[in-house]
Amino acid sequence: MFEYAPAPESRDIVDIQPSYGLFINGEWVEPHSEERHPTVNPATEEPLSEIAWADEADVDRAVETARKAFVTWSAMRGAERAKYLFRIARIIQERARELAVLETLDNGKPIRESRDVDLPLVAAHFFYYAGWADKLAYAGLGRPGREPRPIGVAGQVIPWNFPLLMLAWKVAPALACGNTVVLKPAETTPLTALAFADICRQADLPPGVVNIVTGAGETGAALVRHPGVDKVAFTGSTEVGKLIAKAVAGTGKRLTLELGGKAANIVFDDAPIDQAVEGIVNGIFFNQGHVCCAGSRLLVQESIADELIEALKRRIALLRVGDPLDKNTDIGAINSAEQLAKIRELAESGEAEGAERWSPPCTLPDRGYWFPPTVFTNVAQSHRIAREEIFGPVLSVLTFRTPAEAVEKANNTPYGLSAGVWTEKGSLMLWMASRLRAGVVWSNTYNRFDPASPFGGYKESGYGREGGRHGLEEYLAL
Ligand code: NAD
Repeated sequence: MFEYAPAPESRDIVDIQPSYGLFINGEWVEPHSEERHPTVNPATEEPLSEIAWADEADVDRAVETARKAFVTWSAMRGAERAKYLFRIARIIQERARELAVLETLDNGKPIRESRDVDLPLVAAHFFYYAGWADKLAYAGLGRPGREPRPIGVAGQVIPWNFPLLMLAWKVAPALACGNTVVLKPAETTPLTALAFADICRQADLPPGVVNIVTGAGETGAALVRHPGVDKVAFTGSTEVGKLIAKAVAGTGKRLTLELGGKAANIVFDDAPIDQAVEGIVNGIFFNQGHVCCAGSRLLVQESIADELIEALKRRIALLRVGDPLDKNTDIGAINSAEQLAKIRELAESGEAEGAERWSPPCTLPDRGYWFPPTVFTNVAQSHRIAREEIFGPVLSVLTFRTPAEAVEKANNTPYGLSAGVWTEKGSLMLWMASRLRAGVVWSNTYNRFDPASPFGGYKESGYGREGGRHGLEEYLAL
């Protein structure tokens, strides 16, 4: 059989410094503590660079800088701010190949995804919000009858699963509205945020408008509690989200939280099976399942369960797991040893609690952090694998008989971020969508994103919306 095998993407196109400082006031500065930690390629365990760990004094310096920059940035006409955002968007497009390789090296995701999904969406977010910067008043945003006003300094803390895309979701609307930013990327994936600092310089963004401080949870906590921060935007785990909500309570700071999920992907007996199989695979294996809205619970109507599971297994057996820089790879590396241990532990609990575990035969590389695509059948709602967010390539299959039972099972979770519904019946689709307690409901598709479309959760998946016009409201004074 002929196999098309394009050459792997070359890592030579990226220029990774041996170590990085912090990006404050448009310059690279040495961290106060001089503490540094390696960031590692999860596919090989090779250290890529040394990252600064910002302490309280560094965060203070960054926030003070952002406060000064706010005076001029917030007074600038929207059309002027738009020029910078358009410029950033174009530079991202020009440097997309390099940024995609950098993202793949630092995160472990397949190059096909960073090249075809992450980077185009990153540029699209900057273009989209650049377009809004001079139209805020016309759109009736902000306080009725008054010019829309920015909030001030936004302290933004992001996770490791879509490093540059999460940055774009946060930085683009903040700047469009006239806020300034101090952003802390995740400790395991700081490299594209640091490359973004370079892009800000290339775009001649006024110094201090965007500041990047690297470090772990303590750096994030210092940013969140800093009195000079007016708005906190967090994406990450529900556990940390709750800590942040407590830290912000009573301070008057505005807060948005984008947290975990345990989404149901619901397949009815009239669904187009082949299309549903593709959607289920994309729903759970995209980005190794490191997706807050991953369709990690498959709810399938009992009458088609056997047929669907067989078709699904045949499709999963074709997925290629391996070198993330290989353009044919479907599933890359797990982002860290810590995340791999979490996935393993939960998968073992599935077996121990009586669910049936299946993975296709696949050879995993010797080095790096890997987990095969895995499906659990005979899953009960009480099993941990049906309740807890696994954040890995593990699908739990449950069945239902009636639409009402599907709704009940889908909503039986403390989370409420997203859901998928597969049916040819428009009325059933709408009936389900109105009853599912999820911020996003996809129908006959999954994991679709667009900068114009708001995204966010209910319940323990957080509050506030990112994306679209709704995303702007989170960055304007009420
Ligand atoms: P995490 O909560 O461990 O870390 C997220 C970020 O918070 C990191 O930058 C981390 O350094 C920082 N942090 C840790 N402790 C902190 C503290 N006490 N104060 C301030 N900052 C702190 O999450 P993670 O493991 O990086 O990401 C995975 C989680 O993110 C999953 O639960 C996933 O569902 C969620 N997520 C949600 C969305 C969404 O839009 N809802 C998107 C992506 C990821």
